Amino acid sequence: MSKRFDTKAVHFQQDDGEKNKSKTKPIYQTSSFAFQDLQDMESYFTGEKEHLYTRYSNPNTDDLGFGVAQLEGAPAGIATSSGMSAILAGILAAASPGDHIIVPLDLYGGTYQLFQQELQEWGFEVSVADFRDPQNIEKAIQPKTRLIYAEAVTNPLLRQENIQALNDIALRHHLTLIIDNTFPTPYFLQPYAMGADLVIHSATKYIGGHSDVSAGVLTGSEELISRAKKRVINIGANLSPFEAWLACRGLKTLSVRMAKQAENAAVLARWFKDNTEAATVYYPKDLSEKGNGAMISIDLGTKYDPALFFESLGWIKIVATLAGVETTVSYPLNTSHRTVPEEVRQQLGITAGTVRISVGIEDAEDIITQFSAALQHAKK
Ligand SMILES: *Cc1c(COP(=O)(O)O)cnc(C)c1O
Repeated sequence: MSKRFDTKAVHFQQDDGEKNKSKTKPIYQTSSFAFQDLQDMESYFTGEKEHLYTRYSNPNTDDLGFGVAQLEGAPAGIATSSGMSAILAGILAAASPGDHIIVPLDLYGGTYQLFQQELQEWGFEVSVADFRDPQNIEKAIQPKTRLIYAEAVTNPLLRQENIQALNDIALRHHLTLIIDNTFPTPYFLQPYAMGADLVIHSATKYIGGHSDVSAGVLTGSEELISRAKKRVINIGANLSPFEAWLACRGLKTLSVRMAKQAENAAVLARWFKDNTEAATVYYPKDLSEKGNGAMISIDLGTKYDPALFFESLGWIKIVATLAGVETTVSYPLNTSHRTVPEEVRQQLGITAGTVRISVGIEDAEDIITQFSAALQHAKK
């Protein structure tokens, strides 16, 4: 029976014939698997037995890769120790030193550093282009160009990437397209079906959903994922069984969390627009028929003092992450964009008043009341 999205999100774990038939999958908190005799051990290498050593594979980490791949509509997936290691494994699966990669100007800070500080040093060539006009990507293409890397929805100003246009360019020039789908999640957007070759997640965010785990997932074709898997094994970027188990528990409630968080976000975005003097409210439009995601950014503009705003947020925590069940805020100027040069920040529109809000599952009225109090306190 083929299952729909909400059902797949709950029933993705593989039955491995465990004899006690526990209702939830056990945590295989083990570094390795034991064998009866040499012939039994040989059965791992002939493919009859699945697991040898946790760095290679483990039932819990396999579940996470498989579960997210199913939701993305991709044939294969692998879980990794973090979003960053998923990105690295993806790049190393699709390109080699000497290859040229095109990335957007408004890239997630950690990913920007990975390209600028690590990959360039290892011999990859990287060009940064302003993806707001896809012609800039076309202009950056060189004979050595191998891949285009982008984010489905960008941080912190929530620009929706034109994945269709990127896919057209990638097809025309025989390039690999990698999309970071962390912000929309497969609940709202499935870039693999739109032509992306690899889709990446920081499962630390919405997949885990409870801010209690660092993890990553990479999904794509059998061929690319098996290449990525070799890299993950060799560099030791595997995820621990317990973290995988937590992320799987999170994944089961992805649909209900995303629905509620997006509903709250839509109400809050409307409230900021209609009832406050915030200079700009950033909230995606037409992301999907299920909604526009759970992230909002605002620019406090000239009418509110950012320092006063941040000191009167009450139960809303100030953090450097996003996507948990609780509403949180972050300040890009002193976290994600701290090292970004002033002129780039200006080009992107990130100011001293930019506030990123990750909307949680609380009562929308309470969220509005708390932001309203903070804005009143911050009013100049
Ligand atoms: C957080 C994040 C990452 C990095 O993930 P980690 O789990 O922190 O390694 C990559 N891309 C995006 C869009 C993110 O938000």
